[in-house]
Amino acid sequence: MIRFEGVSKRFGDFEVLKSIDFEARQGERIVVCGPSGSGKSTLIRCINGLEPHDAGTITVEGVTLGRGKAAPARVRNGVGMVFQQFNLFPHLTVLQNLTLGPIRARKLTQAQARETAMRYLERVRIPEQADKYPRQLSGGQQQRVAIARSLCMEPRIMLFDEPTSALDPEMISEVLDVMVELAGTGMTMIVVTHEMGFARKVADRMVFMDHGQIVETAPPEAFFTAPRSQRCRDFLNKIL
Ligand code: ADP
Ligand code: MG
Repeated sequence: MIRFEGVSKRFGDFEVLKSIDFEARQGERIVVCGPSGSGKSTLIRCINGLEPHDAGTITVEGVTLGRGKAAPARVRNGVGMVFQQFNLFPHLTVLQNLTLGPIRARKLTQAQARETAMRYLERVRIPEQADKYPRQLSGGQQQRVAIARSLCMEPRIMLFDEPTSALDPEMISEVLDVMVELAGTGMTMIVVTHEMGFARKVADRMVFMDHGQIVETAPPEAFFTAPRSQRCRDFLNKIL
């Protein structure tokens, strides 16, 4: 579904991704962790072409992304992304936030888009918030709206970049619960998070990044009980 071969990326003189090889199969759930600044966000932003790469090859669902340019619409529409900051449109209601993309990009009618939106609002358990504005919702509710908004585009891959990092502690589990359920549907998911309980529950594979490299990749059991590299052990000691 996703393949990186020797992918590098720099910001000026700074090499943020250093010859990354990485693969995700259909339905695979991968959790990416690592110290701040290690390149996790850049890695997943390269998957949907939010950040163009400079060298190597990225293939997403059989489409090769061009170096230094935006991803083709087919890739952008097939890959949903949820950010730390929810990025909802403040001047639109929850329902309008959810119907905008499908009407514009998927050419759904208003009625079809509403039906899709309500289906996903039910999935994230806040259908009663449909007519509210984002500021009227809690952080956890806003993030669930953001997840529903992505799902309304019917993506085949979902990327999450520290989706619970901006939330008050008591709201983290309501978002993680929704993500666990999504994992149960067979969605291909790449999740940058330090929520290791979540990782143990849903990850097929852990990826540990440091200084722009994938230092270690292993199933969660092996990753948590017997990390091979010192850098990974140090990191886990800090966060667990
Ligand atoms: P992580 O998500 O692991 O914290 P990032 O991928 O966000 O790491 O960033 C890796 C490094 O690249 C950081 O040192 C960051 O400062 C730098 N970086 C990220 N985006 C940019 C940018 N647009 N311009 C310059 N440097 C950037
Ligand atoms: Mg980041």
